[in-house]
Amino acid sequence: MGATKSNNFKEIMQKEDKSRDRELGMDKPITRRDFLNGLAIGTATLACEPLLGASAASGSAPSAATEAQDAPGYYPPLLTGMRGSHPGSFEAAHALRDGEPLPTATNTGEEYDLIVVGAGISGLAAAHFYRAHAPSSRILILDNHDDFGGHAKRNEFNLGGHLHLLNGGTLEIDSPRPYGPVAAGLLKTLGIDVAKLIKTTQHLDYYDRLGLKSGAFFDRETFGADKLVVGLDKKSIAQAIATAPLPEQARKQIVELETGATDYMPNLSSAEKKDRLSRMSYEAFLRDVVHADPQVLKFYNARTHGEWGVGTDAVAALDCWVFELPGFQGLKLKHGATPRMGYTPAGYETTGGSLRLHFPDGNATVARLLVRDLISGAVRGSGAPWSPAEDIVTSRIDYSQLDTPNAPLRLRLNSTAVRVRHLGEPHSATQVEVTYVRAGRAYTARAGGSVLAGYNMMIPYLCPELPEAQKAALHELVKTPLVYTSVALTNWRAFERLELHRVYAPGSYHTYFHLNPHVTIGAYQSVTSPDDPILVHMVRTPCRPGLPEHDQNRAGRAELLTTSFETFERNIRDQLGRTLADGGFDPARDITAITVNRWPHGYAPEYNPLFDPEMPENEQPHVIGRAKFGRITIANSDAGAAAYTDSAINQGHRAVMELLHA
Ligand SMILES: Cc1cc2nc3c(=O)[nH]c(=O)nc-3n(C[C@H](O)[C@H](O)[C@H](O)COP(=O)(O)OP(=O)(O)OC[C@H]3O[C@@H](n4cnc5c(N)ncnc54)[C@H](O)[C@@H]3O)c2cc1C
Repeated sequence: MGATKSNNFKEIMQKEDKSRDRELGMDKPITRRDFLNGLAIGTATLACEPLLGASAASGSAPSAATEAQDAPGYYPPLLTGMRGSHPGSFEAAHALRDGEPLPTATNTGEEYDLIVVGAGISGLAAAHFYRAHAPSSRILILDNHDDFGGHAKRNEFNLGGHLHLLNGGTLEIDSPRPYGPVAAGLLKTLGIDVAKLIKTTQHLDYYDRLGLKSGAFFDRETFGADKLVVGLDKKSIAQAIATAPLPEQARKQIVELETGATDYMPNLSSAEKKDRLSRMSYEAFLRDVVHADPQVLKFYNARTHGEWGVGTDAVAALDCWVFELPGFQGLKLKHGATPRMGYTPAGYETTGGSLRLHFPDGNATVARLLVRDLISGAVRGSGAPWSPAEDIVTSRIDYSQLDTPNAPLRLRLNSTAVRVRHLGEPHSATQVEVTYVRAGRAYTARAGGSVLAGYNMMIPYLCPELPEAQKAALHELVKTPLVYTSVALTNWRAFERLELHRVYAPGSYHTYFHLNPHVTIGAYQSVTSPDDPILVHMVRTPCRPGLPEHDQNRAGRAELLTTSFETFERNIRDQLGRTLADGGFDPARDITAITVNRWPHGYAPEYNPLFDPEMPENEQPHVIGRAKFGRITIANSDAGAAAYTDSAINQGHRAVMELLHA
């Protein structure tokens, strides 16, 4: 009897799920990309209307990873579906971690001066610096992904005949400290005049000027009712929040936190307040100092997701002050660094933060300029009188030119390094041998040295003969997982009707989304009519509030690798549909393509005063971990404990200098 009841219940639920799926558009006919092999996708997508990334749902979609990068039409920026750490890119590394035996390797017979592992900005920069010192050198760069750039990944779409770009990862040139001589010098060499491009290309207040505002979406699962609230600026927040499904007390507290000037820590000096704030999370500040309602804590919890990849429970209140989260206005904290401070502009106040510049594909532009610098034949310029940075945005990379026989610089994709060892004793060897796996087969190549510019925590598996203390330090490094999703829409009329361009959604699957920033650079034009197709950028950080930061990171990483594209797609359709419903948005009709850039190994680990002990720099795990080992040196932003492009570049430079001056 009980079993029949529960079977009936299951059937009813399944029927309801199916009908909801239909409303969301999950049953949309499979688009052409499902019938194409990985190679044809690139060219076909360019030529036809936007295609939905449905085939990646199972994770078994055809991937460029299984194809040769020099085959005609190979163009990974156009791939949709599951990107970032895409199927095919991580399996060999995980097999190595799990102690599975390596396939017998074939010796390619190739010999280089340098082999760089990792074609992110750090690895590409390392190749650039090495060649600057040894112009006739021969260099091989390996990367496990089907595209170069690492986190600096380009998402490219053809919507209604126009090129639309978004960053699949690294968003912009921006750092808590100014770019130093090495990183700033590289940008200059590449033709990026940051100050000038800020003036000529960025229209980041475009939507504000159209009268579109910031909103917050309260979802029924977290707050009891679905409600979009528009107008979160100081002037309109009191009116806007009045309609939120929150108890009156919580609404009042939010308005006071955002607009008031209460000193929640009277009788303490600025230094005392700062010290206390460095020892409590922002959530604890709201709960124990402000005495905020639990709904207020829920409302603010995701405010730190984008910057830190974890919620307010795992970020120090003092660091949140620097990022101008509400509640500190009345505390009258004096500017300036204190010892217990995360990696923030105030922590580096003597120098201040860097300039900020967003390219339409984020710092993929920097990666593409580096590739152009290293392998000029791979990039066809337009011939227009643009600067290199302006021209590259609409240039197409010819992937068939990246790894040509006898070229002095070869960039080999879909290739995971699984072993890097000295041929002889590390202190006296003159060569290293690198084993890499490509399409299930192992190969070896040799070089005078190797820069490991991939994720630092993988290095103990690549080089098991590293000193034990160094391996232990590397094992301590845990990266922050996060997801940047690009969604193509037929138009943005719903946003216009709702007077909205960005949404904070503390209880939703993606906790933040916004319309593609308005940038005009070279031949690239952002859209101007709400009737035109547009891309939406969405951010998800898979974390587990309440756990220590790195445990949250580990749990989030595991979640990302076991979440199907179908689950992402259903959540995206549901979220956009519910948030924008009053603007007439229909997810089944208005969503035309989805790219999920999942980064289980995202931000480099940075000092977090809540969880990390204070210690001298030379005792910190990233410093012990990056020590030179014979002819092997270590780069990547991990080695600088700073999840920023200038760190990636600086560490690439240091690793090369250590090798050249060994
Ligand atoms: C979503 C996101 C947004 C970000 N936004 C910004 C931003 O706005 N501004 C900013 O300055 N920074 C940002 N960052 C930080 C970003 O990590 C750095 O700026 C920079 O791009 C890192 O470059 P990297 O070369 O050090 O590392 P990565 O970009 O991670 O590149 C390392 C490459 O090595 C590969 N690799 C690893 N192991 C192996 C192996 N065994 N064999 C072959 N290849 C291997 C990796 O897969 C990867 O492709 C962001 C990061 C993420 C994840």
